[in-house]
Amino acid sequence: MKRDLNMNPEKIAHENHKLEKRLCREVGRAIVDFNMIEAGDRVMVCVSGGKDSYGLLDILLKLQARAPIHFEIIAVNLDQKQPGFPDHILPEYLAKLGVKHHIETQDTYSIVKKVIPEGKTMCSLCSRLRRGILYRVAKELGATKIALGHHRDDMLQTLFLNMFFGGKLKGMPAKLVSDNGEFMVIRPLAYVPEKDLIRWAEVRQFPIIPCTLCGSQENLQRKQVGNLLRDWDKQFPGRLENMLSALQNVVPSHLMDRRLFPFESIEVTGEASEDGDKAFDEEPLPTPAPVITEDDGAGNTVAARAVIPIAAH
Ligand code: SF4
Repeated sequence: MKRDLNMNPEKIAHENHKLEKRLCREVGRAIVDFNMIEAGDRVMVCVSGGKDSYGLLDILLKLQARAPIHFEIIAVNLDQKQPGFPDHILPEYLAKLGVKHHIETQDTYSIVKKVIPEGKTMCSLCSRLRRGILYRVAKELGATKIALGHHRDDMLQTLFLNMFFGGKLKGMPAKLVSDNGEFMVIRPLAYVPEKDLIRWAEVRQFPIIPCTLCGSQENLQRKQVGNLLRDWDKQFPGRLENMLSALQNVVPSHLMDRRLFPFESIEVTGEASEDGDKAFDEEPLPTPAPVITEDDGAGNTVAARAVIPIAAH
């Protein structure tokens, strides 16, 4: 979305301020909802040089400055020695910001290039190596939390990818213990739409480092699902907000996972229940779901957050 160049500077400043407030509100809401950060935490914020992790660090620093509790932030970047990686950009940016930081240099690029045949996607090995290194660094730094820059659209993309290609109803966790059992991984941008991060990166003029330096092919399936979500968002404002709410409003009796609901042993109770089977009646759906709209700063009205009636279950 291009900003109208003729827009009056006061209006631009006002829109930027609204965006900042919205980002702080949504990140703060996720932190509180999932109890992501507690007093005394040392939060290791993984910064890649992309718009999302810059946005995460930026908003966390703003929240830290006004939080009623004390917690530390350490920004960490992993320099994977990809050809052409501008290794001065992040140290300079982080030093200027005055944030505690650590740059870890590990040539995973050469390892991946050696192991993966030419033309094949390198991402899964590369991310596995990166994860191992980040866990080690988190341990060395004494971090109690690892914060990652995945946002709402990443969460929804993962949900659809798992459904379409993995046969699982599984998204991306907002907060979960790491697979080695040692760290709490948090995603404070869980409620933040990607489009807000794109705009915030423009507003703040983050020195973005392109993520294509490794030369790996983009995951085609993820790209397709990403396009699908973006199209829906344009055509049906509020749909992505509804989908995110759905992730927080799961009804196991109306799914088919026998591990989550004891279908084999349920019995007739003789008592009426709103949550019981409605035979042929279709579930009443609010049409359309009420959506709080805001101006996105580029003159467009966008859904800020859909209001979903949370059913008791
Ligand atoms: S795009 Fe490149 S740097 Fe990113 S995970 Fe894939 S191989 Fe690694």
